[in-house]
Amino acid sequence: MDIESLKASFVKTFNTESIIVKSPGRINIIGEHTDYNGGFVMPAAINKAIYVAVSKRIDDEIHLYSESYQQFHNCSIESIEKSDKGWANYILGVADQLKKRGYKFGGFNLYLDGNVPLGAGLSSSAALECATVFAIDYLNNLGISQMDRALISQKAEHVFAGVNCGIMDQFASVFGKKDYAVMLDCRSMKYVYIPLKLDGYKLVLLNTNVKHSLSDSAYNTRRSQCEQGVAWVGEFVAGVTSLRDVNRAMLEQYVKPKSLEVFQKCNFVVEEIERVVKAADQLANGDLAALGHLMFQTHEGLSKDYEVSCAELDFLVELVKNDNAVLGARMMGGGFGGCTINIVEDEAIDELIDRAKIDYKQRFNLELDAYVVQTDNGSELVN
Ligand code: ADP
Ligand code: MG
Repeated sequence: MDIESLKASFVKTFNTESIIVKSPGRINIIGEHTDYNGGFVMPAAINKAIYVAVSKRIDDEIHLYSESYQQFHNCSIESIEKSDKGWANYILGVADQLKKRGYKFGGFNLYLDGNVPLGAGLSSSAALECATVFAIDYLNNLGISQMDRALISQKAEHVFAGVNCGIMDQFASVFGKKDYAVMLDCRSMKYVYIPLKLDGYKLVLLNTNVKHSLSDSAYNTRRSQCEQGVAWVGEFVAGVTSLRDVNRAMLEQYVKPKSLEVFQKCNFVVEEIERVVKAADQLANGDLAALGHLMFQTHEGLSKDYEVSCAELDFLVELVKNDNAVLGARMMGGGFGGCTINIVEDEAIDELIDRAKIDYKQRFNLELDAYVVQTDNGSELVN
């Protein structure tokens, strides 16, 4: 992102100087569909981000401009309502949440640009919300904590975007740190930074460029299947409030006899929560190969048991499975499209991407996009 030209565009558009806030997209090393089950996740912020240039206004109006959509949206703080412009809702949703929590802030101009691919599962939406809350906080000296910034952004996504997401994406965009992943306990909200030492390897994302429409309904179905499993175990075992409190033996005893399908879904989550704990140990030991092995297991579980993968994602994981230069690969995010995440040896990256593009095109007649990403800091001011 060219910061100078963003500043210049802001001046041209709003006739005044701005400050610039950056908030990153995210990857998730391991721990999929565990956040809404009180489990662990291990995201990292990446060097693809949303940038907002902002300035205070003397009135109480909100004036927005999106570079990508070449659109304005204006309203007053008094009357913030959902817009038919999707992009504006992430910003308005944050302002609305701040109002509801009693924060007092003045009008502002906001110019939005970024390079997180949209809808690819790298959470451009969370990045946009987190950039917005950082900017309003900064302009008005509201003193909002990092955790509250993540929570406000999550709530904005629920209410104004209508997506009932967990906390991982917004957490990662706020708390990310260069050269680290963050292991978050979604039950206690405690977190630890885990050094991501990738000597000789890099993280490569392969974007299927598909997003199957099944995605939203399947997400809701999985959530209720997990809740069902918890309820059935909870009838017999005290203190069970999420799958985090459940083990395989409990599922065998109390869930399997009632529904094989619910058993299978819950069992994936229980196993996945264990895999994140193992992955943290392996990263602490610098054992990238073992981590990669777990990632392949996660994919297998997401595809065969949790059933949230798709032909395109499975194809890309299969493609690298027997490649010695690839330590691990799996689908990332909610499923039914988006990216796979791969740990690939430096020297093999170019060739792998070339081959994947050709094979993917041949098989699906679709373009594949590839991003070699690095970890980066969470929401911050850019000078
Ligand atoms: P994801 O979060 O996985 O990228 P979403 O569908 O949740 O996918 O969010 C994508 C939406 O976020 C876009 O449709 C758009 O409304 C908004 N958005 C993201 N990045 C930008 C951007 N650079 N400019 C304008 N809107 C953006
Ligand atoms: Mg999103």
